[in-house]
Amino acid sequence: MCELDYTDYDFEPFEFEGRRFQKTRKPRKCDLCGRAITPGEMTLVQASKSDGDFSSERVCKQCGDIAEDFFKEHSFFTNLSAVDHYIDECVERSREERDAAAVRKWAKAQRAISRRHVPLGGTS
Ligand SMILES: [Zn+2]
Ligand SMILES: [Zn+2]
Repeated sequence: MCELDYTDYDFEPFEFEGRRFQKTRKPRKCDLCGRAITPGEMTLVQASKSDGDFSSERVCKQCGDIAEDFFKEHSFFTNLSAVDHYIDECVERSREERDAAAVRKWAKAQRAISRRHVPLGGTS
């Protein structure tokens, strides 16, 4: 596993954090890969409060599974919409550390996220 040094980054500490899988009743957009989510689909919702502001993010099931796995493996969590950034960092570090298994695993997750990405303004 890579040795990510999260102290390099400046992320707001969460005062409260809750994360759970939940079916959506409304059409949504995944905050990570950007794809359209249709009503009835399972999503991962994360609620947080930082600096007194409450915010929530929602990602599709596939991105949610990747995010959960990433948080678990790295014993940390952050905004769901920032997970791809941390995965990029993880792949780079793992490459430097010549950890082929980690590079394979997280490069595959990177591709899975970007493949679902629908550019803004695209038809959905
Ligand atoms: Zn890693
Ligand atoms: Zn997604």
